[in-house]
Amino acid sequence: METLTAKALVVGAGPVGLTAAIALASSGLDTVLIARAAPADNRTTALLGGSVTALQTLGVWSHCQDHTAPLRTLRIADDTNRLIRAPEARFEAGELDLDAFGWNIENRHLIAALEKRAGELPNLKRFAQDASAIEIGDAQVTARTQDGTSIGAPIAIGADGRKSLCRAAAKIEVSGWGYPQVALTLIVKHSRPHQNISTEFHTESGPFTLVPLSGNRSSIVCVVNPAEGELLRAMDAPALAQEMERRSHSILGRVEIEPGMGFFPLAVETASSFAGSRIALAGEAAHRIPPIGAQGLNLGLRDAALIAEFAAQAHREGRDIGNAELLARYDRERRADVTSRTLAVDLLNRTLLSGFLPLQGMRGLGMTLMNTLVPLRRAVMREGIAPSSAQPRLMRGEQIA
Ligand SMILES: Cc1cc2nc3c(=O)[nH]c(=O)nc-3n(C[C@H](O)[C@H](O)[C@H](O)COP(=O)(O)OP(=O)(O)OC[C@H]3O[C@@H](n4cnc5c(N)ncnc54)[C@H](O)[C@@H]3O)c2cc1C
Repeated sequence: METLTAKALVVGAGPVGLTAAIALASSGLDTVLIARAAPADNRTTALLGGSVTALQTLGVWSHCQDHTAPLRTLRIADDTNRLIRAPEARFEAGELDLDAFGWNIENRHLIAALEKRAGELPNLKRFAQDASAIEIGDAQVTARTQDGTSIGAPIAIGADGRKSLCRAAAKIEVSGWGYPQVALTLIVKHSRPHQNISTEFHTESGPFTLVPLSGNRSSIVCVVNPAEGELLRAMDAPALAQEMERRSHSILGRVEIEPGMGFFPLAVETASSFAGSRIALAGEAAHRIPPIGAQGLNLGLRDAALIAEFAAQAHREGRDIGNAELLARYDRERRADVTSRTLAVDLLNRTLLSGFLPLQGMRGLGMTLMNTLVPLRRAVMREGIAPSSAQPRLMRGEQIA
C-alpha cells in the first residue's frame, strides 16, 4: 500500500474541484486531486463576470471560449394568469458599460477545458478514483483511494458534491428545505436567432428560462411541479419540442430537442460550517440553491478561488496552510455571500409560487420600480453579477502565487 504526501488535497472533479485544484497548483502548491471523471452533465452554466475573469487568470478560458455565448440582455416576463401581473423587466449589459452579463457554456465543455488545464500543470497529480475514506488528524488529513493508496496533506478541499464524504468525515451537518418543484434541463436548436437575449418566463410553478448558447441553440431550464415534470419527462422528442415551443411563446421559432435531459428536484441545502478541522468545503458540498438567477456554480467558483488564495498566502508566509484560523475565516467570508444569494433566490421563488395577493403585489411593485428607477435597476444588475463585498483575487484578475 502506497503512502504519499502533498501540500493540498482536493476531492471531487466537478467544476468546483477542478478549479480549486488548478488554482492551488498554479499558486505553486503540490496538489493531489482525487476524483474520477465527472459524470455526464447536460446542464449549462451562465458564468458571470468574475468567474470568467478567474478562468482567464487560471489559463482555462482559452480552452473553452469558442463554446460560449455572451448574455447581453436579460428579460423577465410574467407568464402567470394571476390578478396582479408584473410588467416585463429588461436589463441591458450596456447600461453597466459591460459587453455582457456573463457567458453561457455547456458544462461538458467547461469540464473538458478544466480537465485540459489540469493536465498541463506538472505539480497537479490526479488519482482517477473515488476517495473511499477521509481521516482527520491533528497535523494532516489523509484520504484513502479505492486502490488502497493513502495521501496526506495539511488541508483537503471537499468539492465532492451534495453527498460529500469530506463533509461527513468532518462531522458537519446540513440543513435546508425542499420545494414542490423540479427543474428539467434541455438543450434545443431553434429556427430564429436568440440575439444573445436570455428570457425568463415566470409561471405559477416556477421560471421557464431560455439561455443562449453558441449558434442557433439555447439551453432551457423548465421549473415545474413534480407531477408536471414527470409528464414532460415521459414525452417523446417531437411532443416535447412542441411543448417547449408553446412555453417559449415561439420567440425562438421552431424548436428541436437535442439528446439528453436532466431532472433535478429543487432544494436549499447549507452546511452548518463551510470548514472543519483541516477540511474546507466548496461548491455543492457546502451549499445548494435552486437554479434561478444563475448563482450556484458562480458561488462555488468563488469558494474555490478564496480557499486557494488563503492557502497560497499561508504557504508564502511559512504558516500551516490548514490552520484553524484560516479555515474559520474562510467559513465566515464565504457564508455572507452564500447566505445573501440563498435568501434572494428563495424569496424570488416564493413570490412566484405563492397565491397570496400581497406577495404577488410586492413582486409586481418590485418590477415596476426596477423599470422606472434607473439607479435601483443598475444596483440590482451589479449585485446580480457580483457580490458588493470584496471578491477573491482571482475574480479580480490577480494571480495568487
Ligand atoms: C438545473 C440546474 C441549472 C443550473 N444552472 C446554473 C447556472 O446557470 N449558473 C450557475 O452558476 N450554477 C448553475 N447551477 C448550479 C451548478 O450546476 C452547481 O453549482 C455545480 O454543478 C456544482 O458543482 P460542484 O463541482 O460543486 O459539484 P458536482 O458537479 O456535483 O461535482 C462533485 C463531484 O464530486 C465527485 N465525488 C463525489 N464523491 C466523491 C468521492 N468520494 N471521491 C471523489 N470524487 C467524488 C462526483 O463524482 C462529482 O464529479 C445549476 C444547477 C441546476 C440543478
